[in-house]
Amino acid sequence: MQIPMVDLKGQYETLRQEIEAGFRTVLETTHFILGPQGKALEEEVAAYCGVRHAIGVASGTDALHLALRAAGIGEGDEVITTPFTFIATAEAISYVGGRPVFVDIDPLTFNIDVELIEAAITDRTRAILPVHLFGQPADLAPIRELCRKHGLRLIEDCAQSFGAEYGDRRSGAYGELGCFSFFPSKNLGCYGDGGMIVTDDDRLAEEVRVYRNHGSRERYHHSVIGYNSRLDELQAVVLRAKLKHLDGYNEQRRRNAHRYTARLQGTKVTPPAEDGKGLHVYHQYTVLSDARDAIHQALTAAGIASAVYYPIPLHRQEVYRELYAGVSMPVAESVAKRVLSLPMFPELTEAQIDRVCDVILGAL
Ligand SMILES: *Cc1c(COP(=O)(O)O)cnc(C)c1O
Repeated sequence: MQIPMVDLKGQYETLRQEIEAGFRTVLETTHFILGPQGKALEEEVAAYCGVRHAIGVASGTDALHLALRAAGIGEGDEVITTPFTFIATAEAISYVGGRPVFVDIDPLTFNIDVELIEAAITDRTRAILPVHLFGQPADLAPIRELCRKHGLRLIEDCAQSFGAEYGDRRSGAYGELGCFSFFPSKNLGCYGDGGMIVTDDDRLAEEVRVYRNHGSRERYHHSVIGYNSRLDELQAVVLRAKLKHLDGYNEQRRRNAHRYTARLQGTKVTPPAEDGKGLHVYHQYTVLSDARDAIHQALTAAGIASAVYYPIPLHRQEVYRELYAGVSMPVAESVAKRVLSLPMFPELTEAQIDRVCDVILGAL
């Protein structure tokens, strides 16, 4: 039995009629960019997240970049974030001339350790950028308290957490700006690149709309240097079709995760922890084990995919090495050596989960 990390075919097959009909409408009207599909999607995502504004952009990386710019982060400004994330989180800070300040993570949730944040705040700190890694929101209440106390912006990297909840709010709705990725394998994914920014703030929303469209408020009038970063109409068709089913997909991910956990509990493999502060939507199902490499090899030999997200924390990446020479983040470094993500997608079957667990237990 071959088992991939992600299988996108199941959703395409069940939604194909709706998606293909939507594609045909876009093709026949030849309105490809900033048209009615994108506008409808923005309204639907804003309603889903419980915020006033959602603005489509070209990728999750651009969502972070434009959010930081709209928030006024610039040359020399420090932004506190986690070293245990995808590079795009830190890249976006560097794009605007800012400096990513990494704070070590919590060993159970893999999210930024809120106890360590305050000591990293300086008079150049302008924002905190938590990442909701693997689909579980970072501990946002104490982070927002720190932002209030020190006058900082709170920007959420929600690339892996569409539909997750913290307290009674959806991920993205807690900070001033929430940034989503619609990369195909994300919980809500399109058929190319795409992203979105959500906010309750009218002024920030307006800034993002201007930046995504060449710094233009009025056609051919340009007040600032902006970008070409729009979500196109064909991608909006795919996302609108999937959004209607997203809660069900996330529920399936949770059910799959709980089946894995029931099988792996009490073994030498540590299942992921839910912190009980909201809803974890399991973008990834990531275990910890000292025997990580042996498990990975056994799974590979059995035709089962598994992956290390992420093998090198960002403060150890070549691009940031000089900034962080001699700085140690012991938890992130230790976790990077022991994590392994297992196949996870809504359509994964019980038989597939059992097979993955059998191979893991056989390897221990
Ligand atoms: C995927 C991802 C991004 C970037 O999104 P793209 O759409 O690929 O640009 C940013 N941050 C995190 C945590 C991600 O997982």
